[in-house]
Amino acid sequence: MSRIVSFCFDDGFRASAETVWRLFAARDLSATFCVLAAPELAKDPFIRGAAIADWGFWREAQAAGHEVAPHGWAHERLGELPVPAACESLDRTLEAFVRELPDFELGQAIFHLPYLTAPTPVVQHLSSKVLGVRRKLHQQGLNRAFGHPRGASIDCVTFPDPADERLQARIGRFLGHEAGWLVLVLHGLDGEGWGPVSSDTLAAILDRLTASGVRVAPAGQVLRQGTTAS
Ligand SMILES: [Zn+2]
Repeated sequence: MSRIVSFCFDDGFRASAETVWRLFAARDLSATFCVLAAPELAKDPFIRGAAIADWGFWREAQAAGHEVAPHGWAHERLGELPVPAACESLDRTLEAFVRELPDFELGQAIFHLPYLTAPTPVVQHLSSKVLGVRRKLHQQGLNRAFGHPRGASIDCVTFPDPADERLQARIGRFLGHEAGWLVLVLHGLDGEGWGPVSSDTLAAILDRLTASGVRVAPAGQVLRQGTTAS
């Protein structure tokens, strides 16, 4: 039974990213960091005022084997913008990633939508440019591992407080009776960001997954391998 789990860490909290980097590297694993092009402009209360890593940090993370993927310009609620403005914000975000990250390939990347959602025409605009769009499709984060068309939407699940318990329960269900590709969205660790989990919980889950024979891999890497050639 093929089972894969991807961990996406949204919003770019620097202290959490350093811990994630260390926990994953200690197990020879790679994480996915989903980051903003202009976090200093974010109005979201969990991001505004937080210490967010900069492009230099993300270039180092990418060079160390982690995936750094787009999560938006300033974490706007895309459904509250006129469609042309939302599309322009996404295009500006993608241009910044191409400019700032030497290993970033637009057509090979997943866009991780802020608040896990956008209006249909905005999703369609994005899916013509990127390999996949991560959003909430109400499948509890479960996707098939293979057979995705280019521009596919990928489901994900995230956990409000108490996030440790909810994450552990979701992993338990996956290990108990599911197969395929589970895409988890976390934010910060140890009190940082929305729905934080503890670093001890994360470390224990990584060990539990690898001991169970589950492949832990960055979301973009899994989708590149699981996209049908056309
Ligand atoms: Zn976010």
